Amino acid sequence: MKVLVCGGAGYIGSHMVRHLLASGHQPVVLDNLSTGHREAVGDAPLVQGDLMDRAALAGLFAGTRFDAVIHFCARSLVGESVEQPYAYYDNNVGGTLNLLQAMREAGVARLVFSSTAAVFGQPQAPLIDEQHATAPINPYGASKLMVERILADAHRAYGLRSVALRYFNAAGADPSGDIGESHQPETHLIPNVLRSALGQGAGLKVFGDDYATADGTCVRDYVHVNDLAAAHLQALGFMDAHEGAHVFNLGNGQGFTVLQVIEAARRVTGVEIPFERAPRRAGDPAVLVASSARAREALGWAPRYSDIGAIIETAWRWHRAPRY
Ligand code: UDP
Repeated sequence: MKVLVCGGAGYIGSHMVRHLLASGHQPVVLDNLSTGHREAVGDAPLVQGDLMDRAALAGLFAGTRFDAVIHFCARSLVGESVEQPYAYYDNNVGGTLNLLQAMREAGVARLVFSSTAAVFGQPQAPLIDEQHATAPINPYGASKLMVERILADAHRAYGLRSVALRYFNAAGADPSGDIGESHQPETHLIPNVLRSALGQGAGLKVFGDDYATADGTCVRDYVHVNDLAAAHLQALGFMDAHEGAHVFNLGNGQGFTVLQVIEAARRVTGVEIPFERAPRRAGDPAVLVASSARAREALGWAPRYSDIGAIIETAWRWHRAPRY
């Protein structure tokens, strides 16, 4: 299949591109390189461009007949979204609308969309399945939920087939060490823990120790980036047989506290990891753990990395020697 990967130079997108190439598909990457890395794209063709540029999108679809689109482009920092809501709605909703219109004009009717656990807001249940109420508590989550709604409308109006995958906490890196997570600034837990192990960065802070959890720190469900990539490929196959706009939660179904992640990283790295306790970070729910039963059943998805140590081990390989 010829697949347009929007945001294919980013963290999850670049692992997707590698997975598509390894599975015999032909990815083409569209990325504005605002947060992505040219080096992350590897052997796939890269078109440097922006979803806000409708003329460029029309040109891209006019020049190549794509079988499907996988869409990772987004601004994705919760705190920043609270400070700059217009930028988030403009980019995440407006940019996606431009993409959907270009797809419609070109007759491309299959989309896999990066959604997020942030659509749920404050969870009302220990395990979050797709029936769980969606009530985002920040503009980032709201922008992703808005796109999910647009996709449902697009199916009814235009017959677009889509799968929105709601990632819990993407983590790890390709075991080759060629590609990995490289954000500037880095806000995510595991990279910050590993930087602290390496004596890099501004010093690890643990945000909040008075949550109603086993040790007072937040619980998250960490899922390996290559397992996420595999789910996207399965979603492409799923759309062959299924019309509609579908949503699936993707996580391991097991939660770890921040302190448990630090302890697991200590075991992987063999290094005592310095950290200091800091106030709660705004917008952090205490516990976010996925039920992925629907993805397992409908897509046949079975994450290969279920062990937090194994996930951190792949991230450690990358952070010790990042290529970009
Ligand atoms: N966290 C932390 N220190 C950091 C980064 C994150 O204590 O330097 C905590 C954060 O408050 C949350 C968890 O680690 O409870 C996971 O945060 P991350 O930003 O990795 O992902 P999120 O859950 O926000 O998508």
